[in-house]
Amino acid sequence: MSHSRVQIAVLLVVIAVCMALFNGIGSRGQSRNPDTPGVRTAVKPVLKSMDSSSGSESEPSNKAVVASPIFAEAATSNMQLSTQINWIFGGTQQQGWYLYTPLISRLLNTEHDTASAGFAGALSQWQEKCGLNPNGVLDEESLYAMVSDWQGRRIKDRSYAEPGQLITAPASDFYDPSRPDELRQVQRETYRAYKAMVAAAAADPSLGLDLAGPGELSPAEKYLKIISAFRSHEYQERLRRESPNAGSAGLAVNSPHFTGRALDLYVGADPVDTRDSNRAIQVKTHVYQWLVKNAESFGFQPYFYEPWHWEYVKK
Ligand SMILES: [Zn+2]
Repeated sequence: MSHSRVQIAVLLVVIAVCMALFNGIGSRGQSRNPDTPGVRTAVKPVLKSMDSSSGSESEPSNKAVVASPIFAEAATSNMQLSTQINWIFGGTQQQGWYLYTPLISRLLNTEHDTASAGFAGALSQWQEKCGLNPNGVLDEESLYAMVSDWQGRRIKDRSYAEPGQLITAPASDFYDPSRPDELRQVQRETYRAYKAMVAAAAADPSLGLDLAGPGELSPAEKYLKIISAFRSHEYQERLRRESPNAGSAGLAVNSPHFTGRALDLYVGADPVDTRDSNRAIQVKTHVYQWLVKNAESFGFQPYFYEPWHWEYVKK
């Protein structure tokens, strides 16, 4: 009898302690003060501090947010998804999003490694802005949202270039300088923008481009040379016949190259090979990463799937 009384007494004490602890946690968790120490790991304060638009100086910086265990878990998921997520583009099964890391980092405006909590934090801010679940995980939903953002920035009007809009660029601008005149045509403003962009790249010593003079690439330099510009319907048809397996992600029936505003530029490796192993080399080159950061200021937008393909979208 007395033994069971002791047990009940112990049990009551345990319950009392548990309730006291629970109440304590509960009242702290419901605190309206985001600066209460010890609650930064709770969901509410983290979400609040992700709202960078508030601009409050007392808010912890984004670097404080990234320490959250929520984003540590997201970072682990991102590390796996970057190489393993299955998705569809151009009617073809795709695996992982690691090939798009430079574009994703630019979109999220972050320099953090994709496997870090900092990246997950930046992603969650972007997700929130897009009305997506701000979980910091680059899942299928977020990936498709990014693809649609990138695709939405491309040339919409793919009308055939008027002959008067096209100029014939010098052979020295081309990856293959033996290309005949009719395959060296570029839309006028696009060519001007291209030359300005190349001059800027040439002036950037971090790229180490081989120059013939100020702003001019040397004949030996391959990077940023034009592989392909304006294509006639006939030429595109010939390319399609020669690569019947290119698929809809490859040689489009309605190609942006018809406008004369799309340029394929050399960014490394096999110039225009969409195999993941090839693109993995291209997206790591300094030149490609420079384009991702700088091409937009010259009016060019990327085609996310082909690191070499850039479209002049300024009117
Ligand atoms: Zn192209």
